[in-house]
Amino acid sequence: MATQHTPAQFPSATVLGYPRIGRRRELKKAVEAYWSGASSLAELEASAEALQLATAARLTELGLTDEAAVPGTFSFYDQVLDTLVALGAVPARFGTLHDDAGRLGLDAYFTLARGNAEQQPLEMTKWFDTNYHYLVPEIGPETVFSLSSERIVEEFSLAKAHGTVTRPYLVGPVTLLALSKASDGAPAGFAPLSRLEDVLPVYAELLGKLAAAGAPWVQLDEPALVADLDLPGGTSAAELGAAVERAYAALTAPAVGAGRPAILLSTPYGGLGEQTAAVAATGAEAVALDLFKGQLPADLAQFAGKTVVAGLVDGHNIWRNDLAASAATLDALREAGARHGFAVAVATSTSTFHVPHDAEEETQLDPQLRSWLAFADQKVREVVTLAGHLAAPGSQDAALAESSRIIATRAEAPGVRRPEVRERTAALTAADFSRSEYGVRAQAQEAVLDLPPLPTTTIGSFPQTAEVRSARARLNKGAIDEAEYERLMKDEIARVIDLQEELGFDVLVHGEPERNDMVQYFAEHLDGFDVTVHGWVQSYGSRCTRPSILWGDVSRQAGASILWGDATSAAPITVPWAAYAQSLTEKPVKGMLTGPVTILAWSFVRDDQPLAETANQVALALRDEIADLEDAGIGIIQVDEPALRELLPLRAADRPAYLDWSVNAFRLATAGAADATQVHTHLCYSEFGVIIDAIDGLDADVTSIEAARSRMEVVTDLEAHGFGRGVGPGVYDIHSPRVPSQQEIEELLARAVEHVPARQLWVNPDCGLKTRGYEETEASLRNLVEAAKVARAAL
Ligand code: GLN
Ligand code: ZN
Repeated sequence: MATQHTPAQFPSATVLGYPRIGRRRELKKAVEAYWSGASSLAELEASAEALQLATAARLTELGLTDEAAVPGTFSFYDQVLDTLVALGAVPARFGTLHDDAGRLGLDAYFTLARGNAEQQPLEMTKWFDTNYHYLVPEIGPETVFSLSSERIVEEFSLAKAHGTVTRPYLVGPVTLLALSKASDGAPAGFAPLSRLEDVLPVYAELLGKLAAAGAPWVQLDEPALVADLDLPGGTSAAELGAAVERAYAALTAPAVGAGRPAILLSTPYGGLGEQTAAVAATGAEAVALDLFKGQLPADLAQFAGKTVVAGLVDGHNIWRNDLAASAATLDALREAGARHGFAVAVATSTSTFHVPHDAEEETQLDPQLRSWLAFADQKVREVVTLAGHLAAPGSQDAALAESSRIIATRAEAPGVRRPEVRERTAALTAADFSRSEYGVRAQAQEAVLDLPPLPTTTIGSFPQTAEVRSARARLNKGAIDEAEYERLMKDEIARVIDLQEELGFDVLVHGEPERNDMVQYFAEHLDGFDVTVHGWVQSYGSRCTRPSILWGDVSRQAGASILWGDATSAAPITVPWAAYAQSLTEKPVKGMLTGPVTILAWSFVRDDQPLAETANQVALALRDEIADLEDAGIGIIQVDEPALRELLPLRAADRPAYLDWSVNAFRLATAGAADATQVHTHLCYSEFGVIIDAIDGLDADVTSIEAARSRMEVVTDLEAHGFGRGVGPGVYDIHSPRVPSQQEIEELLARAVEHVPARQLWVNPDCGLKTRGYEETEASLRNLVEAAKVARAAL
């Protein structure tokens, strides 16, 4: 007998996702133990189950009590990989990874993520405008799609058996294919999105299994719809909208409950813009809109019959929500919903896996600063409060007022707005952003530097050995004093300088042993920042970072710390280390700084003023540092901006304004340098062409960039652009322990000189060597220097 199915009500409050690494990085420890052979698959599975159940219990305790309010966003490595493995879309280059039953188990899953002896892993790239990296699916005309893992069904059943009905999560079909790259053998112009019709039956089959397991809701994440992506095959925005229509027509064809769960179509990371109508026209029962970054759509009538899930609480940054403002938006939505016939629920704007678990654990922070913060757990409470307001206006007024009061204290608190910092940025003029003509500088630099053609250098860091890390840990624990720490670091610097002398490098580095992290190190030495103890967030796989909190006006600190005695005026951060390194050698030593855009991108940044203003403050602190480096006799200074591409807005219309302030911040930081000081910058990511104008606009004398993984393809971009200053396309990939042969590097250099005039070229690796071991580093660098000699002789 056919029963009439109506969708279950959408939970009144939810988050689009939750940190999955664990409050004490339990997942990191469990997977790394398994990878190293220290634990068994059964032990890994047991740890993962315990973590999933602890998460479900925690979220319930925090107030996500409605059915399907707890998101099923656990992942062993990456959500894109989870979906790809469920669909069975293994690239042909991996051969057979499926078992005899046609399943992809965890070992196959990790092989795709981490590679094996024959195959490189799937490529990794940034997830929208975040610092999270996903694995890029490789899809071709030959890719076979078949349901190959039911892990998400099993995860649902596990939680259900323990009393929590979760809301399973999948990357939606349009986003999955839009983020895919064409597989190796695919014909030119092949668009992975052209395989949409072939993946949909597998999605439908999986949805059927979820329904059968008792899942009332599933979340299909479609962030591709908020971005202007440069899609392979030249897919236009209109075609993307049409793909949404086809995909969700197919997935919603079966009745809710019979063949599938109700669908929440989530669109995090920005406003839907021109895709709003396509999303509203789908049969998805609920649509999650990012109302933190995006605007409330003008025409709300188009959502009639659905639940509009209002993503009001920012999932991507750590600041307490302005609950009163969010409540006002909810009031407007409630009223529109009553008029047009849609329901309203509350959520975060994105998954909260971009922020740490719990601000309350940061007991070392000033209580006032802590009161401004909302990490994942605090955000759950915020959505629950807002849902309480939605259900019973007036019922949460005390909490709303408290939130307004705390936010107001931010404006007044000491350190947030410092007149001496603001006067400096207010007084800036165009001249502060420009150096002399490049030609004039190049001559002045040539006169003092005396470098051979194709000069060799590295990107900055040398391997961080166990001894170096242990010295820092002992300093932090008080087991050694600062004098002892300084001595150990200086020993390490001396070793690194000796090694570079022995290998024959032209421009040396001190090796950065004293830096725990290229951003945190500066954050610890600048006013306006604080660092956390437990604030880890996943960067990719088991890798986590601990972003600093940029909450106030920025300047260099008075130097009360190591190496500066009791100085009271703003003290240099890097100068003593660089000067020490320079004292050991006749060769030039490069000073090494992290650029303003990267410092912003890899920190949690204040949201109470434009990023441009914050960037200029950081830039001025770096400008002071550069002046001090010059005074100490450092003639080459590198300012790293690996994150320049990362903050590029998802919408094309927003990009010019971003590129304007970000490029200007770099220029402000560096433009005080004398003509004879050679300013370097370093960027690392593959899609270099997109922002080549901006890179040129940085006006650095030398730019080193990642290039080895694309076999120097970037040199053709440089040639087409007519890039006229120094450039060091990386000659080997530092992300793997593989030692490049001398011949291979010679070939890459030969290719480079065909496209870029030799007098502009530098020879360097792709990136810093911090995560490598000394053995492979020495061998690789030796081959690099020898290859440069051969290439030089051939000029
Ligand atoms: N100077 C830094 C290093 O060598 C640059 C790192 C980066 O680009 N991510 O470690
Ligand atoms: Zn790099």
